[in-house]
Amino acid sequence: MMRGWLAADIGGTKLAVAAYDGKKLFARMERPTAGHRGAEAVLDDLTDMLRCCAEKAGLTEILGVGVACPGPLSAREGVVIKAPMLGWENMPIVKRLEERLHCAVRLENDANAAAYGEYRMGAGKGTESMAYVTVSTGVGCGLVVNGRLLSGFHEGAGEIGHLCLVPDGLPCACGRKGCLELYASGTGIGRFISQRKGEALTAKDAAHMAEEGDQDALEAFRRAGEYLGRGLGYVLQLIDPECVVIGGSVHNALHLMKDALADTVQRTSYWGENPDRWLRVAELSGDSGLWGAALLASEI
Ligand SMILES: [Zn+2]
Repeated sequence: MMRGWLAADIGGTKLAVAAYDGKKLFARMERPTAGHRGAEAVLDDLTDMLRCCAEKAGLTEILGVGVACPGPLSAREGVVIKAPMLGWENMPIVKRLEERLHCAVRLENDANAAAYGEYRMGAGKGTESMAYVTVSTGVGCGLVVNGRLLSGFHEGAGEIGHLCLVPDGLPCACGRKGCLELYASGTGIGRFISQRKGEALTAKDAAHMAEEGDQDALEAFRRAGEYLGRGLGYVLQLIDPECVVIGGSVHNALHLMKDALADTVQRTSYWGENPDRWLRVAELSGDSGLWGAALLASEI
C-alpha cells in the first residue's frame, strides 16, 4: 500500500510525468507531444501516461496531481486558455483530469511551477524571496515572495518577457511592440546572428560560434544579456529578491551573457551589486517544472 502524488510537465515538444513520494521524484516517463493529432489526443496521452506512471511507481492511491503547462492559463479556474502547440483552447484541464483520475488536480503555468521547484529544491533553496527567469524560445518568469508564488490579479505577475524595452520596436506575438523576449530570448539571439551573417542560424549555432571567438556571435549574447539585464533590473528594483535563478535552454550559454547582464543590472537597480551573490543558475535542469508541479500537488 503506497500513497503518493503525480506530476506532469506539459511542453510544446514533450510531455513528462513522474511520481512523488514526499521526498523524491521517480518512475519518470516522457513522450513527444502529439499536438498535431488534436486537443483530445494530447489529453488522452497525458491521462494514459499518468496512469502508467502510477502503476510503474506502485501507487495504490493518488493523493493529487500537479500539472505545469505553458500559458496563457488560469490556475484559479483550472483552464488552459490557449496553447496552440497542444491544440488546446479553453481546455478545462483540471476538471477533465479530475473526472478521469478521481483525485484533486492543480494547474500552474510552467514558469511559475519551475520557479517553485527551484525555490524549494534547487538554486533558491533556503531563500525567502526569489525570481526565476527562463530563457528559451521566449522569456518567462516566476516570482516567489515570502515563500509564496506571486500570482497577481490577472494571474500574470512577473511576465517580464513582455516588458516593453524598445518603444516602437519589433512587433510581438502579444500584439504590442518592443517586448523584452524579442531581444533576450534564444529566438532573439538567432534573429540577430542570422541578420549579421545573412543566413538562417539559431541561438545554438551562435553559442558554438561564440565559443570559437566569433565577434558577431559574442555580440549577439552580449546584446541579449543587456536586454535581459534591463528586465532583471526592474525585477530587483520592484521585488528585491534574495536571488535570481536563470533556467531554460539558453542557461547553458549564461556565461556568454553574464558580464553584460550583471553590468546592466548594476547600473539600473539599487540591489544589483555583487552579481555572484544574487545571480544563480537553475540546479534541477530539465526537471524544475516537474518538481514544482509535484510540490504544488502535495500542497493541495
Ligand atoms: Zn510581447
